[in-house]
Amino acid sequence: MQIADRTVASFHYTLTNEGGDVIDTSREREPLAYLHGAGNIVPGLEKAMAGRTEGDTFKVEVTPDEGYGPRHDELVQTLPKSSFQGAPEPKPGMQFQGQGPQGPVMVVVTEVEGDQVTIDGNHPLAGKTLNFDIEVTEVRSANEEELTHGHVHGAGGEHE
Ligand code: ZN
Repeated sequence: MQIADRTVASFHYTLTNEGGDVIDTSREREPLAYLHGAGNIVPGLEKAMAGRTEGDTFKVEVTPDEGYGPRHDELVQTLPKSSFQGAPEPKPGMQFQGQGPQGPVMVVVTEVEGDQVTIDGNHPLAGKTLNFDIEVTEVRSANEEELTHGHVHGAGGEHE
């Protein structure tokens, strides 16, 4: 069976950045399953998956436009520490949920200098070219419930 709309594909992936460093891999976990054509994975990867079959291995380079989008400088803000009242002391690397123009976003503290805290609401992979190394492990038809919901259900039909 080929990967197309209304199919569920499972695959192993290793994601590396432009420098060749591994950012993420499914190799130590179960393969990732997704409903094709539903926008469950980044567009550039979904496009490259179309027409593949079980056992296929391939590499694909995904540009930011077809990945996690460009970085937006306006999502980087510097705020006084006093605006974090009631929250734990902000430290670089700390993540918390903030409010963006389109709803809640994950924000990471990138710098703390004196009373000034710099936060970044960009997706960590925004603006980055993504290199995927893929192995398709299974392709099956999606069931009606999965098509209605727009995502894959687990073996017992439960939500993740
Ligand atoms: Zn569901």
